[in-house]
Amino acid sequence: DPQPLDLKNYIREIPDFPKPGILFYDISTLIRSPDAWQVATARLARVIAAWQPDILAGIESRGFLTAAPLALRLGCGFTMLRKPGKLPGKTISLKYGLEYGEDELHIQADAIKPGQRVVVLDDLLATGGTLAASIDLLRKVGAEVVGASVLIELADLKGREKLDVPLNALMTYD
Ligand code: 5GP
Repeated sequence: DPQPLDLKNYIREIPDFPKPGILFYDISTLIRSPDAWQVATARLARVIAAWQPDILAGIESRGFLTAAPLALRLGCGFTMLRKPGKLPGKTISLKYGLEYGEDELHIQADAIKPGQRVVVLDDLLATGGTLAASIDLLRKVGAEVVGASVLIELADLKGREKLDVPLNALMTYD
């Protein structure tokens, strides 16, 4: 970068969303700034390129925002991890626990060729449940998961400890 840019200046903190007591880190203010978004994606690209991925997998839906442009930029394929009922054709799925209840992610059964190197991307790491489940699902379809990447890590929740692949976070909050 010509001059270091503090990307945290582009993250808006919204109290009580989606529920009372939750502080939501809003990335809308980052992606609507062309300059800041260029810097953010360039920084992500540098780290992810070093992992030499074949495929970038984005987690619905804010994971798509980084994974798709980075796949184009790095010359990788792009694939989607989606909520139930969204992907056509045969899918493989995995249920995972949330704080209250459970959720489920799907991938198309033929999305990954056995042994392909995959990096998985989301906007934010909190407890790590979503990324850990995504890594398990990618392995179920034969991926070699070589890294995980987020814009924001909420470090106090120790989600990183749930992951057994290298994790890159552009911004960290306590
Ligand atoms: P985890 O499974 O790590 O507890 O939660 C991460 C998931 O919740 C991510 O898919 C992320 O999009 C969403 N998430 C939770 N809190 C926030 C937040 O404050 N901001 C944003 N942008 N996403 C959040």
